Amino acid sequence: MALSGIEIFKLLPKTNCGECGVPTCLAFAMKLAAGQAELSACPYVSEESKAKLEDASAPPIRPVTIGTGADALKIGGETVLFRHEKTFINKPGIAVLVSDTMSDADVEVRLKRLKELQYERVGLVLQADMVAIKDTSGNAKRFEELVQKARSAGASKLILMSDKPEVLAAGLNHCADLKPLLYAATKANAEAMGNLAKEKGCPLTVKSGTLDEVAELTTKLTGMGLKDLVIDSGARTVKKVFEDHITIRRAALVSKIRSLGFPTIALPCEMTDDLMKEAIISSILIPKYTGILVLSNLEGQGLFPLLVQRMNIYTDPQRPMATNQGIYEINAPDANSPVCITSNFSLTYFIVSGEIEGSRIPTWLLVLDTEGLSVMTAWAAGKFVADTVAPFVKKSGIEGKIQHRKLIIPGAAATISGELEEELSGWQIMIGPREAAHIPPYLKNWTAS
Ligand code: SF4
Repeated sequence: MALSGIEIFKLLPKTNCGECGVPTCLAFAMKLAAGQAELSACPYVSEESKAKLEDASAPPIRPVTIGTGADALKIGGETVLFRHEKTFINKPGIAVLVSDTMSDADVEVRLKRLKELQYERVGLVLQADMVAIKDTSGNAKRFEELVQKARSAGASKLILMSDKPEVLAAGLNHCADLKPLLYAATKANAEAMGNLAKEKGCPLTVKSGTLDEVAELTTKLTGMGLKDLVIDSGARTVKKVFEDHITIRRAALVSKIRSLGFPTIALPCEMTDDLMKEAIISSILIPKYTGILVLSNLEGQGLFPLLVQRMNIYTDPQRPMATNQGIYEINAPDANSPVCITSNFSLTYFIVSGEIEGSRIPTWLLVLDTEGLSVMTAWAAGKFVADTVAPFVKKSGIEGKIQHRKLIIPGAAATISGELEEELSGWQIMIGPREAAHIPPYLKNWTAS
């Protein structure tokens, strides 16, 4: 049963030492009650209080890790219903399904696409994460072979799917060290699945036809000592799976129902035969709380929009995405190439650098740290002005790379040109276009002399 902030406060040392990162024990208690802090942040809680606080301080949706090391996938751990309230923390995993009744060629194509379909956007590499290996034949040996094949293809985050514990156990002979997600404990096999997950230290999916049954199963399994559970509500229609995801999230966060406080898995691969419809269903579930999506195949036209959507939903809305400050070489510039400057708002950087790249004109692009603000906003906030641009240009080292002294500033910051020319002695400040789309013709007419 969750405790209130005041009840938690009574169990804290009340010394207000601030070592937990907030100034008072009361503030820390309030954060714990809201699921925004971890009890381990206070080094002075007595063992007795710790035991009492364990339940109250646990996050409302348990974080579950699949895989090991830096490459592991963490899902769950969310604390808000809506992204604008704070931020969504752990992005959902995207898995591709392979089954032991598929031909070798089909399996190989899926494993190859998992590895090769990568996209670079705003400095990040976007790709699907994991392989869901499904037993459909009931043949443990075939399942083992499939697990080995996925592993030798480089897959390190796995979901092992079977309703037979002995088949999953056979698969685990080849991948238990990767701590795969086991799928799934049902009413019929919960005890055997629970024991297997416990023995191997793997997270376990709970699947049932109703949320009441799911809650019963999670209660049973947590009673056996299992903590890392993932919920499949069993729904296979868009409407029901959407409703279930919202109900589970609200039950965990608003009603503090611990038995539903786990991340979820959804299987669009079992909801339609049409890959594009799978992508559409997935796009509905990414913002609506799914922890893992299992797709029947990966194709660029369906996967890429999902990866971009996932990236956008799982970034902090209060912190603009930013690129590192520095000098960027585009199209192999030399000493006579033009020098442009822009802000480090990721969208600005990628639009500007994309236009320069497309122009094929070798260009130096200076990116100034404006704390992720666009040129106009940064100018208005005093972060893209002569006093910040000039010191950066001097310290950047660009003067050692070029023979001329011409700096192209964005048209949107034209008003700083006079002051900047005074601050940057020996430099000629040129006013570039306001719109990034006009950069290529501008650069084509630019000359160093
Ligand atoms: S570290 Fe513990 S004792 Fe110190 S202020 Fe935080 S909660 Fe209080």
